[in-house]
Amino acid sequence: MDRYAVIGHPIGHSKSPVIHSAFAAATGQRLSYEAIEAPLEAGQFAATVERFRSEGGRGVNVTLPFKPEACAYATHLAESARCAGAANALKFEGDRCLAENFDGSGLVRDLSHNLGQRLAGRTVLLLGAGGASRGAILPLLRTQAGLLLVVNRNAAKAQALVAEFIAQGASANTLAACGYDEIGSQRFDLVLNATSASLSAEGLPLPARAFKPDGLAYDMVYGKGLTPFLRQAQQAGVHQLADGVGMLVEQAAEAFAWWRGVRPDTAEVIHRLSLPLI
Ligand code: NDP
Repeated sequence: MDRYAVIGHPIGHSKSPVIHSAFAAATGQRLSYEAIEAPLEAGQFAATVERFRSEGGRGVNVTLPFKPEACAYATHLAESARCAGAANALKFEGDRCLAENFDGSGLVRDLSHNLGQRLAGRTVLLLGAGGASRGAILPLLRTQAGLLLVVNRNAAKAQALVAEFIAQGASANTLAACGYDEIGSQRFDLVLNATSASLSAEGLPLPARAFKPDGLAYDMVYGKGLTPFLRQAQQAGVHQLADGVGMLVEQAAEAFAWWRGVRPDTAEVIHRLSLPLI
């Protein structure tokens, strides 16, 4: 049986084994999928991957805090991994190790396919300038969004991030960055929270006018119910609220298709893992 795994630290919370086992059952693929905790010490991520490969492992998902190390470990980087400076999926082919980052494409698929959002021409506010935000920028730009404004607590970090993409050809008319106090009176069709503030139940210094009531507020964090960010959006009159469970399942589906050549249906798994936003 072909072996796959997710590697992280900690890893006990990971939903990936449940998701991939459900995909395998639904598509009739014979595979096993396990969760492996790699030690945090330098070099231990690579050693853990090497051991799994030597035991016949075919590919791994990678989660916090090893996504940048996965990128460094790989021999061949897809554009998604190169732009993100981080990989969340590896595939082993002989001596080659291919790296992808499906977080951003999973997000866009969730927005467009599951949540019915047309992205072309729309205004998007992306909160945060860490790994999740970095991975989302290119897939969001590819949707032909009208404006993508990246806002971060540390504004200089957001500006440096955006400057990297502009240096690689993104248009400064479409992609911009600033701090929370510089958002001004602009309103956004989609407000995407890629900060980790919800993990510590913190709200964000966002003006209520940034939300459009007929727009979408999306928190990439999942399983936390109505986060302070989603509550802020609700209080600003936004009707359509979503958390990141769809993004999680869609990035898993992308990895599954990449490894196995079969795209699983995601609706049932998203439904099973979704918690009410209350
Ligand atoms: P990082 O640690 O790389 O980045 C965290 C970001 O959050 C930084 O920009 C940081 O700002 C900002 N931030 C943290 N706390 C606050 C706060 N109190 N107020 C304002 N900004 C804050 O994390 P990731 O980018 O890897 O992950 C971000 C979130 O996305 C996490 O919650 C994670 O769970 C989620 N995620 C979900 C996925 C899914 O599949 N659904 C996949 C990947 C991530 P600063 O730079 O100023 O410190």
